[in-house]
Amino acid sequence: MAELRDLYQEVVIDHGRRPRNAGPLAPASHRAEGFNPLCGDRLTLYLRVVDGVIEAASFEGGGCAISTASASLMTEALKGRTVEQAEAMSGGFQALVTGHDPGPVRLGKLEVLAGVREFPARVKCATLAWHTQRAALHNDAEAARTEEGR
Ligand code: ZN
Repeated sequence: MAELRDLYQEVVIDHGRRPRNAGPLAPASHRAEGFNPLCGDRLTLYLRVVDGVIEAASFEGGGCAISTASASLMTEALKGRTVEQAEAMSGGFQALVTGHDPGPVRLGKLEVLAGVREFPARVKCATLAWHTQRAALHNDAEAARTEEGR
């Protein structure tokens, strides 16, 4: 158990120090800004959604290691997912880090952040990227829907 915890910590530290998908995305179809006043984490999330599938995701911003690692892991996890899958992952992730059952959603590597449930003050750091993702998808919901012809 201790070894597993160390491994999880390594992944979080690695993504916190060397975030993947950092920087703006062009072209991006969706964008939102997130702010966690409890910690001071700020990020701008970019998504490129084509025919209901997230083709690319990236983020810019600054924050603590947890928020940066979470955004990095999330942008990796979102690539190739449908918007519906992304929303299900978001709900599952929220459950995971608050100590609830994430249900049938496969979270894969995102599970390394499960440890924050023991640190309630850090939960918002871990969920900031996901709140921002929901805002990004929601902001442009009308346009995306129109383009998809739904
Ligand atoms: Zn933070």
